[in-house]
Amino acid sequence: MSLVRLQDIRKYFPVKRSIGEVLLRTSQSFVKAVDGISFEIKAGETFGLVGESGSGKTTTGRIVLRLIEPTEGTIEFDGKDITKLGSDEMRKLRKDMQIIFQDPMAALNPYMKIGDAIKHGLDIHNIGNTQSERKKLICEMLERVNLQADLYDRYPHELSGGQRQRIVIARALILRPKFVVADEALAMLDVSVRSQLLQLLIELKKEMNLTFLFITHDLATTKYMCNRIGVMYLGKFVEIGTYQHIYESPMHPYTKALISAIPEPDPKIMESKKRLIPEGEVPNPINPPSGCRFHPRCPYVMDVCKNVEPPLVKSPDDRLIACHLYTEKSAVQQQDS
Ligand code: SF4
Repeated sequence: MSLVRLQDIRKYFPVKRSIGEVLLRTSQSFVKAVDGISFEIKAGETFGLVGESGSGKTTTGRIVLRLIEPTEGTIEFDGKDITKLGSDEMRKLRKDMQIIFQDPMAALNPYMKIGDAIKHGLDIHNIGNTQSERKKLICEMLERVNLQADLYDRYPHELSGGQRQRIVIARALILRPKFVVADEALAMLDVSVRSQLLQLLIELKKEMNLTFLFITHDLATTKYMCNRIGVMYLGKFVEIGTYQHIYESPMHPYTKALISAIPEPDPKIMESKKRLIPEGEVPNPINPPSGCRFHPRCPYVMDVCKNVEPPLVKSPDDRLIACHLYTEKSAVQQQDS
C-alpha cells in the first residue's frame, strides 16, 4: 500500500528580471525545477532520490511535505489528496510528516535550549499530559539517539555537528511520524559520524516502522538505506529501480555515469573501474535541451534523442527507464554491436 503518491508534479520558479537595480514585475522565464514527475512510496519503504545538484530532488522533497506548493500536480498522503488542504489541516498532518534538514545549525534556534526545541513539537501536537511527562519523553528520545539526557539544558552551539544532527533527528521522531523526508541529512558530517548516523537511521526506521524519502547526492549511502531509488536529471526521472537495478546493472547512461563515479575504498579497484564521464556541464534548467534532456552529454546520443523526449517505461526486469536505447529496437542492436 502506498503512503505517498505524487502525480504529474511540476514546479516552475519565475525568474525575476531587472534592469540595473530596478526589478521588473513581469517574469517571462521559469526555472523548471521539477517537470512532470510521478512516483509513489510504499508504507515502510525508503525511497532514495539521487542526482546532481539542480536535478530537482530537494524541491521534490519540499513539495511532498507541502513546504512549497507545486505549480501543477497532485500529492496524496495516506490515501488522502492533500494538495489543497488548508493550513489548519496541514498543521495537524505535520505530526505524521517530518523533515530532517541538511544543516542542523540552521535548523535549530541558537537561542533555544535543546530541550525546549524538542518540546515545541510536543506542545503544538499536545503529546504528553504534563510538562514533566514531556520532559521524560524528551530524555528518553535523547538517549535513543545516543545522547546524554543532560543535553536538555544546553544550547546548539555547545554541541558538535554530529550531536546537533542527532538532536534534529530526535526532534523529528519524537512525534512518532509515519513519514520522514531526510534531505541530505548526513551531507555535512565527517565520514565516521556519517556512518554512525546512517546506522542510527536504519535502526530507527525498523523500530518505528518509518517510511522515508531519502534525498542525497551520495549514492553510496542509498545502497544501505534504500529499497528503491529514483535517479533525477534536470527535473525528471531517468530511471527508477531497486538498489540492485541501480547499483548492479544500471541501464540509463546517466545512472551508469553516477555509479561509475562512486569512489571505491580499494585504490586498485578504483583504478581498474571504467569511469563514464558525461560531456560538459548540466544545462540551464530555464531552457532545458529538447528531446532527451541528457542528450548534449550522452555518449550514446542518436538523432531521435535530440527531438523526441523518451517516456518513462517499464523494462522487462521491472524497473522504469526513460531512454531511447531501450525503446528503439534498432538502437538496442546498435548498442549491442
Ligand atoms: Fe542518451 Fe538518447 Fe538515452 Fe538520452 S535517450 S540517455 S541521449 S541514448
